[in-house]
Amino acid sequence: MIDLSRRGFICGCLACGLVQPALGQTVPGSAGCFLNAPAQSRQLDEFISRGIGRRDFASTTGDPDFDRQFGRAIIRLAGFFGEQPAFGIVSDADDHDNAWAMPQTPPGAEFGTVGFGSTMLAKLRDFDPSGMAIMAIVAHEFGHIAQYRRSAIAELNQGQPNVRRSELHADYLTGCYLGWMKRNEPRISVRLAGKFMEGIGDNDVNSQHHHGTHDERIASVEAGFALAKTEDLVFEDYFSLGKAHILRTY
Ligand SMILES: [Zn+2]
Repeated sequence: MIDLSRRGFICGCLACGLVQPALGQTVPGSAGCFLNAPAQSRQLDEFISRGIGRRDFASTTGDPDFDRQFGRAIIRLAGFFGEQPAFGIVSDADDHDNAWAMPQTPPGAEFGTVGFGSTMLAKLRDFDPSGMAIMAIVAHEFGHIAQYRRSAIAELNQGQPNVRRSELHADYLTGCYLGWMKRNEPRISVRLAGKFMEGIGDNDVNSQHHHGTHDERIASVEAGFALAKTEDLVFEDYFSLGKAHILRTY
């Protein structure tokens, strides 16, 4: 098992939005998660222009059995969120581990794009063979797609010095997804997904890219989990209750 240190979590996972303006390029219309290294920014630009056909935006992990399970899990998750963005595996071997979401839509997709770094995917497969930790990341990114769709990112972050509120709201929606899964399938274990989530957060509170402290992020996931594990609501209600919770709390 690969030891995913806390440092690894902070740098590699759910670190979307950590754009370095001096190095990377921002993406027009993108406000929440995008790529955070120069090479990745170039890849992103290419992706926007070339669409789903980009060479490094793969629709397979190279493992057909895993692909089938992953595909099924994503379809189920997409049903929970009511979203069908383009989704692909992006080579991140030479860059930070990462996952990202953006509102740009390639031909053939319904709305938005989610990318998942291949290195992070491999590490998380080792960390949690059940796949729930991977799906927690996917859920966070689908949460951003749902925010983009509703123009909620600007609303959440209005008057704020950073993107903390929209990130905590995506964490809340991640918790809702995990709670919904647990309520529908009590046999599944979300223990390692929870353990993984315990490693996220940053203390860079003066950065405009601050995603929330460790405690804030965990609390947001737990609040969403507690709601969806007990309350059978439509996604729109989870979304708006989450928004109210984040605005009220932070
Ligand atoms: Zn995010």
